[in-house]
Amino acid sequence: MDNEKDNVMDKNDHRILGKELDLFTFSELVGPGLPLWTPKGTVLREELDKFVWELRAKYGYSRVTIPHITKRELYETSGHWDKFSDELFRITSREGKEYAMKPMNCPHHIQIFDRKPHSYREMPQRYAETTMVYRDEQSGELGGLTRVVSITQDDSHVFCRTNQIKEEFLKIWDIVDSFYKAFGLSLKVRLSFRDTKEPGKYLGTKEIWDVAENELRNIAEERKKEHKTDYFEAPGEAALYGPKLDFMAKSSAGREWQVATIQLDMNLPERFNLSCINERGGKERIVMIHSAINGSLERGAAFLIEYYEGNFPLWLSPVQVKVIPVRTSHNEYAKRVFELLKENNIRAELDDADENLGKKVRDAKTNKMPYWIVIGDKEIEAGKVTLESRDSGQLGQMTKEELVKKLLEEIKDKK
Ligand SMILES: [Zn+2]
Repeated sequence: MDNEKDNVMDKNDHRILGKELDLFTFSELVGPGLPLWTPKGTVLREELDKFVWELRAKYGYSRVTIPHITKRELYETSGHWDKFSDELFRITSREGKEYAMKPMNCPHHIQIFDRKPHSYREMPQRYAETTMVYRDEQSGELGGLTRVVSITQDDSHVFCRTNQIKEEFLKIWDIVDSFYKAFGLSLKVRLSFRDTKEPGKYLGTKEIWDVAENELRNIAEERKKEHKTDYFEAPGEAALYGPKLDFMAKSSAGREWQVATIQLDMNLPERFNLSCINERGGKERIVMIHSAINGSLERGAAFLIEYYEGNFPLWLSPVQVKVIPVRTSHNEYAKRVFELLKENNIRAELDDADENLGKKVRDAKTNKMPYWIVIGDKEIEAGKVTLESRDSGQLGQMTKEELVKKLLEEIKDKK
């Protein structure tokens, strides 16, 4: 399913393109599975993350922030200390206290929810955070982003009442659909259920799992009727604490990637005794919905690098336009155009080296830039720029203002 099985790298493998386009690197001193993101790669990550936040904005999510380590007791309560123990990075403090690097964010977010009682009027509470988790994975492929030790999740936890599950689930599903539609992708939906032959692998009772899996099946069935999204069931693919809806996308090479996920959890609320105060003033058990839209930013970025073969759409491109003066005598005018683009938050690069035009244009093409503009005598005389596109070739002359307007519109529309 993932591409770690393929040992022969093709030219569009994200490991090759990531290096060529200078998006991420690895250091032997830092260690395997610990990608270091360059300035360009960081732009890519931030654009993906920003888009998720834009989509979440209308659904009432709040940002939260947590530390990356925790006392052992948190994971004993959550069950991770037992069931997840091989993947935990443990730390002992100088006073001999046991800590762990967080392998997930849920137990921390639970502690934020549980800081005070919540009335039913305040439900659901929706927390989200983009943050790294750490898992002691067995070393897999080197230099790739699909199996890493430091994983950045665009993670969210919705704490809600049982009668709010469906509505909240469908809202997140809308976010997933809107996000992937922007890339022209339709996703396959997998209902990931428990392996009934190995009940010991999971937290919680059979009864709770039956309820949660049925709920998910009903939601998927309803979505199928309304949106014609088909789904299939996969026993054995559930999370430790509950069943999930996983979304699969195909890269241009035809490989299937698991991207977004929405998970229904009736077990951690039991273990942490989470409740809200209902209409009758009594305590009512709540449920949790875990979700990640990119899945992880490492996986999301790797998938999109391969899907686009490095030819990112304008809004996602680390460098959006390169400004190329034909000769050094054109540098001053070119610099003014470059400054104007920057003032408009367009990510531009100025290539004012004393090189010939052919080399500079080749360089823009090799770096798969969506646009470059050439500035020579003709352009300066007319007070214009000549725009060329990676995808549609020569676009002719236009004024600086027309250029800015065209680029900003395209960025906004995520074309
Ligand atoms: Zn979670």
